Amino acid sequence: MKIIDVLNSGKATVSCELFPPKTGEQLENAKEIVRQTAALNPAFISVTCGAGGSNAGLTIELADIAQNECGVPALVHCTCVTATNDQIAERVNAMKAHGLQNVLALRGDIPEGVTLSPDFTHASDLTAAIAAAGDFCIGGACYPDKHPESPTVAADIDGLKRKLEAGCQFLTTQMFFDNQVLYRYLLELLRAGVDVPVCAGIMPVINSRQIARSCALSGTLLPPRFKAIIDRFGDDPVAMKQAGIAYATDQIIDLIANGVTHIHLYTMNRPEVAAAILQNLSGIVNQ
Ligand code: FAD
Repeated sequence: MKIIDVLNSGKATVSCELFPPKTGEQLENAKEIVRQTAALNPAFISVTCGAGGSNAGLTIELADIAQNECGVPALVHCTCVTATNDQIAERVNAMKAHGLQNVLALRGDIPEGVTLSPDFTHASDLTAAIAAAGDFCIGGACYPDKHPESPTVAADIDGLKRKLEAGCQFLTTQMFFDNQVLYRYLLELLRAGVDVPVCAGIMPVINSRQIARSCALSGTLLPPRFKAIIDRFGDDPVAMKQAGIAYATDQIIDLIANGVTHIHLYTMNRPEVAAAILQNLSGIVNQ
């Protein structure tokens, strides 16, 4: 099933993101995580891939488990920052062979000391290549706090529009911790004529160390209310987990109350955290 049809069905949705292991040794454990996440009945499961694409085969294997074993639509992340046309064609053929129709087309962060792709500069180039290669539903990334390489939100949205012109049908946001930032951003998108479905990316923070690094890399701002939680509970794993689940739940309820109906959970491969949030939303989101 194409994700654009799920998002246009008129229902509120919660989807989940997982990441593959770095090597095949951890694959069985990762497959189990996919199965446990699928049992929560998310609208779709997305599986990330490394910026250099070295583990793209594992991404496809996990997406295959989600979709073909568990019956949950899968979204395959595909990065192009170091990829050649031939490598992307190989990944596209693998997706076709597994019946995987949904791709999140990404540039990837620019790694240090690697040779950049001779064929792709931006996600828009990859989007165009995938759109030309078959009948795929293509999504793209967007940034409520602005992509760190863009000088302004308006310049960032100009880049985003090129992805849409190339064939991107829906967007998933980078994590954000202040809903007001998202509401302002959605207004900017509407003003710029962007009206595709947007999945709001929510990261339940259960590990305070991981979040500082991720925010520095992605340019995501931490609001004072959230910083206070990390300062108070960051060294106590049990308290931090409870607080992180509560904060994410609170964010999602506010989003849905304000008409943002597609939520994408960055689960960090913790199905029990996604389960706790969905339990908190059981009367609000009926998947
Ligand atoms: P682009 O769309 O190319 O944007 C990068 C910058 O260039 C932006 O500043 C943009 O405004 C500008 N721009 C875009 N198009 C053009 C254009 N045509 N001309 C001029 N400027 C342009 N990384 C991974 O390595 N693996 C993953 O699986 C992964 N999953 C992600 C999922 C989501 C939902 C998000 C939000 C991010 C994800 N990332 C992932 C991180 C992402 O790869 C980085 O944020 C990367 O720096 C930018 O990727 P992009 O696809 O947004 O790039």
